[in-house]
Amino acid sequence: MQIIYTDFLSIGSGLAGERVAIEAAQAGFDAICLSLVPPRRSHSSAAQGGMQASLGNCIKGEGDCPDVHFLDTVKGSDWGCDQEVARMFADTAPVAIRQMAHWGVPWNRVVPGKSFYFKGGEKLEKEEKKECEGLITARDFGGTAKWRACYCSDGAGHAMLYTLDNVAIQSGVKAHDRVEALSLIHDGEKCMGAVVRCLKTGELRAYLAKATLIATGGFGRIYRASTNAIINEGGGLIIALDTGIVPLGNMEAVQFHPTGIVPTDILVTEGCRGDGGTLLDVNQERFMHVYEPEKAELASRDVVSRRMTEHIRKGLGVKSPYGEHLWLDIRHLGEKHITTKLREVYEICKNFLGIDPITELIPVRPTQHYSMGGVRTNKDGAAYGLKGLFSAGEACCWDMHGFNRLGGNSLAETVVAGMIVGKKVVEFLQGNETNFDTGVVNSALNKQKERVDNLISGEGTEEVYAVRDAMQDVLMDYVGIFRNEKDLTLAVDQLKEIHKRANNIKLQSNGLGANPEMALALRLPGMVRLALCVAYGALERKESRGSHAREDYPERNDRDWLVRTLAYWKEGQELPELKYEPATQVVEIPPGDRGYGGGKIISAETKEA
Ligand SMILES: Cc1cc2nc3c(=O)[nH]c(=O)nc-3n(C[C@H](O)[C@H](O)[C@H](O)COP(=O)(O)OP(=O)(O)OC[C@H]3O[C@@H](n4cnc5c(N)ncnc54)[C@H](O)[C@@H]3O)c2cc1C
Repeated sequence: MQIIYTDFLSIGSGLAGERVAIEAAQAGFDAICLSLVPPRRSHSSAAQGGMQASLGNCIKGEGDCPDVHFLDTVKGSDWGCDQEVARMFADTAPVAIRQMAHWGVPWNRVVPGKSFYFKGGEKLEKEEKKECEGLITARDFGGTAKWRACYCSDGAGHAMLYTLDNVAIQSGVKAHDRVEALSLIHDGEKCMGAVVRCLKTGELRAYLAKATLIATGGFGRIYRASTNAIINEGGGLIIALDTGIVPLGNMEAVQFHPTGIVPTDILVTEGCRGDGGTLLDVNQERFMHVYEPEKAELASRDVVSRRMTEHIRKGLGVKSPYGEHLWLDIRHLGEKHITTKLREVYEICKNFLGIDPITELIPVRPTQHYSMGGVRTNKDGAAYGLKGLFSAGEACCWDMHGFNRLGGNSLAETVVAGMIVGKKVVEFLQGNETNFDTGVVNSALNKQKERVDNLISGEGTEEVYAVRDAMQDVLMDYVGIFRNEKDLTLAVDQLKEIHKRANNIKLQSNGLGANPEMALALRLPGMVRLALCVAYGALERKESRGSHAREDYPERNDRDWLVRTLAYWKEGQELPELKYEPATQVVEIPPGDRGYGGGKIISAETKEA
């Protein structure tokens, strides 16, 4: 079996993985990024809307600064985030965006003069200043006090990833694509790299590294309906959890985006509502301003998704063969706006729905979108439990998002974390020599070889796609936007059974070579473990916070639940072990009202009855 040595190994070649790798390579270290697909096909490329950074260049962003961005982020998180991390993030985002501009990202710029914009369906006028001409501009994006989402037409992620990939190539970062990390190599104290399977040949390799980063993005595809790419199946989280030592943070914090289109679940960007798009019900009437007088369609995603679900439950949804939905109306924005600033939305509607959003309504419903939970790290991006293991991006619970990530904050997180965690990785590499223990490496390789051989020898009875579908349906039905004890208990019980089935797969194919069935069979038991971390974490968290809405515990409970869930999985267990830590050590802004959502709060000072 092939053994490949490097200083730095990133498992993942999206924005976060490549940005950290650039820091390592530019400091003179050998850096390799692994990816399931060519790096530019990573999910980051699908981000349409924008990246938050408090530049304050455009007129509607005037007066913006990191303090305001920080406040928006903490409120958005429903006080679930680590405030020290959110502060570093808000302070660094303006630097990160300027660096991306310097590297070549074609951000849209301020054009002086008068122009129109829409708020809640109403047409308003603004005038950009002459002295700001040519500076990076921004658009309105859910839940923020100022216009701060910098954008490249509607392909921010695409422009950022292509630019970053160029810089990575120039810096000497090597990309190894069409490979999948199956497990981490570690001795219980330090991480030495990963066992990796080539998706073209099926061959196993060991990548031995002094520092390893998990940057595998979100795990949305454990749900049936998700805006995530089909490669977002949580590979990095699975291998961290499987160490038994590295915990996952806040796995129950799953974000649903208000505007997935029906029935394909492709996202149409928040920029639609930011630019003035409205949500309509079966009677083609606006409703969001009734629930949320202040922010209306622009309240944070968890709030809008819940209000939409409530409205559908009142019988005001539009019936369709694919279930009930609501309408997104952008017709009033006009042809020029839609075919330029929202061009991708225009094309998605034309190509996938066969409708023209300039004249027709878009069918939308809340759809799984973002994973706030992930590999728990400290503020330097170092994973809990194993020396030499780091994590960044959506795969990580760094934790600046708490229980709800603000639109535009996650593209920003990838490059900001890339800068901050990248520097810490470099410091680590400069201060450490690692010995690779051949016994540990061989035993990690053999363990994966045994799994492959067992699947090929065909002792099991279950069909892999059927088991995957069963898992996705349980999450969709019982661990969605509104949750309660009965449903979550059912979910946990059913997922325990599904976990047994996932460990008893019979392949329909021979399992050799480039074989997607084998790849899923190897990944699936881990995916079900992630699903159990989500469902069990949600069952045990007896409060409502951000995207975690318990019908039986509707209050946000700062007295008992101002904590982060840590999920550990010891080999052979049928459920994760949950521990808790304070949500934040530094409190710059004490818990208070978010200003939208209207939920009740049990304050930290309240005594138990
Ligand atoms: C449709 C959509 C639109 C979005 N729009 C916005 C937006 O406008 N603004 C915003 O801020 N955020 C947006 N987001 C969120 C944002 O795009 C992501 O959070 C971010 O891009 C994640 O970047 P990443 O580098 O962490 O992961 P990714 O870009 O997902 O990269 C993950 C990498 O890991 C690799 N990988 C995965 N598993 C393995 C494995 N086992 N072994 C080896 N490699 C592996 C993949 O191949 C890939 O290279 C959007 C998300 C979606 C779903």
